[in-house]
Amino acid sequence: MTPLPDHELIPLISHETINRRVAELGVEISSHYKSLLVPGETLLVIGVLNGAFVFMADLIRHLSVPLEVDFIRLSSYLDNRSSSSKVVMLKDLERNVQGRHVLIIEDIADCGLTLNWLLEFLKSRDPASLKLAVAINKKARRQFEVSLDYVAFEVDDGFLVGYGLDASRRYRELAGIYYLEEKK
Ligand code: 5GP
Ligand code: MG
Repeated sequence: MTPLPDHELIPLISHETINRRVAELGVEISSHYKSLLVPGETLLVIGVLNGAFVFMADLIRHLSVPLEVDFIRLSSYLDNRSSSSKVVMLKDLERNVQGRHVLIIEDIADCGLTLNWLLEFLKSRDPASLKLAVAINKKARRQFEVSLDYVAFEVDDGFLVGYGLDASRRYRELAGIYYLEEKK
């Protein structure tokens, strides 16, 4: 893998470690929904494009409850100097969430703006229940409250790539998670 010019990839979490942890989360999430879903009912799993697609593909294959998938695409913008923030929906869901048990899957919770917005947006559509699973919880820069129900990994700070996460559209295909650092 050739890194972007003047950058280097520093391994953080290996593919093996991710696999083990995602399998564990799958068991935990399944046991919650097994007691919640009535016969004939399905869980609605919502992936946040683009970054969540790899984690979502792995996680749903460890879920042992009947489910459907749908996707939403969001773009968020935060300017701390002017304290302005904005979330724009680039693609809406195709399924109706009203009365459904919904599990959101996101790659990373960073400042929390995107997930805070998404939780409010989905709550307003009246689901039967709403939970949130993230691959990475990056707490250091949290500014907006989000309650994370399932977290695969906790990371302090730094810019991460791989396992669905990109930098200038690169690196999503890397099986592990890496820090992308500027060369000193
Ligand atoms: P928020 O700051 O709203 O919690 O996160 C917004 C989005 O920023 C995330 O969904 C993710 O796509 C992106 N993001 C946050 N931290 C990182 C990171 O370390 N690496 C990459 N590639 N994207 C990130
Ligand atoms: Mg994202």
